[in-house]
Amino acid sequence: MKDYIIVGLGLSGASLAYRLEKTGKSFLVFDDNSQEASKVAGGFMNPVILKRFTLAWKADIQMPKAVAFYSEMEELLGKEFLSPLEIYRRFSSVEEQNNWFEAADKPKLAPYLDTDLVSTVNPNVPGNHSFGKVLNTKRIDPRNLLESYAAHLLENDLLKEESFKHEDLVLSEEGVEYKGIKAKNIIFCEGFGLLNNPYFKYLPLRGNKGEYIIIKAPGLDLEVGVKSSVFIFPAGEDLYAVGATYSNTDKTPGPTESARQELVTKLKDLITVDFEVVHQVAGLRPSTIDRRPLVGRHPEHKNLYCCNGFGSRGILLAPMISEELLDLIEHEKDLDPETNISRFTKKWFNAS
Ligand SMILES: Cc1cc2nc3c(=O)[nH]c(=O)nc-3n(C[C@H](O)[C@H](O)[C@H](O)COP(=O)(O)OP(=O)(O)OC[C@H]3O[C@@H](n4cnc5c(N)ncnc54)[C@H](O)[C@@H]3O)c2cc1C
Repeated sequence: MKDYIIVGLGLSGASLAYRLEKTGKSFLVFDDNSQEASKVAGGFMNPVILKRFTLAWKADIQMPKAVAFYSEMEELLGKEFLSPLEIYRRFSSVEEQNNWFEAADKPKLAPYLDTDLVSTVNPNVPGNHSFGKVLNTKRIDPRNLLESYAAHLLENDLLKEESFKHEDLVLSEEGVEYKGIKAKNIIFCEGFGLLNNPYFKYLPLRGNKGEYIIIKAPGLDLEVGVKSSVFIFPAGEDLYAVGATYSNTDKTPGPTESARQELVTKLKDLITVDFEVVHQVAGLRPSTIDRRPLVGRHPEHKNLYCCNGFGSRGILLAPMISEELLDLIEHEKDLDPETNISRFTKKWFNAS
């Protein structure tokens, strides 16, 4: 009997699997590459919401935890995924500049907002107003991290690259059984794929599609990330990622022409050099109606768990939320009521 089955190897499933591995628990992961959100993510560990200059939910707690967590994964896998990346916010008005200073006065934001504004970051990225630097940010390369971790799990017979069929899951008092594999618990980390899960699809997962274009711009020479109406950051060898889009209506998985055009138009307003679009990626963010994760135990089946709803903040959320969920399962430690799926049970479960 294994301790756990995990369904999904995005940031959620990978964080849980890594924590289980570290504590010597036995587990098996299933992943079928049906969702791409984690792999196409920009990978920013930035606690500040750069549209409004506010702190993302609990981001001050998540940030140090995430840095330590991904550093440990780097050590385990013998690869580097974390890198420092300077991010600048281009201001579009004096009012925005003033809002930045106001935000920088707040104790939780002060460590992240530099009050020494700069007039230029690169001659090819002009601005009518100044630029503010976001301090203490980092970036991870999520695709590299997840592919390396998948290879590590495969080597150790801990990953099956196949679709998990919910109809083949058998529940019992002692745990669950799936195609002859018995486990005490099963955790579903399916991202937007949760909508196909008969046990948890009652949860209000909304989904928000995001797309990036990858451009080649040999004359740009930009070594920092710049956020304006769109975000651009260097990806090496004259390549830059530009994005992301946000759509609550399009739930198709692949890249779209409309997103490409939207990003190209916004980019032309940001940089002055020629560029060519060489690639485009898309993913569905598992966003929720109250912008909080969906974590916890199934209301009727005690061995079934869900770890989802990371929205646009999976990089910082996954290390903290995976720890909290395993604390619940292993030590009966209460979950944060703000993330516990029990907040939806009465209304959503009975109605579904
Ligand atoms: C364009 C874009 C940019 C983003 N940028 C950032 C960023 O810079 N910083 C940040 O913090 N967040 C970012 N995000 C958000 C972040 O990607 C998500 O919060 C996070 O990836 C969600 O992780 P997850 O593991 O819950 O879901 P997913 O990444 O969707 O993973 C779910 C996994 O489950 C698997 N799966 C599903 N169903 C089954 C099944 N039946 N059987 C087997 N396997 C199954 C899928 O194949 C997938 O691997 C971005 C998202 C997008 C789309």
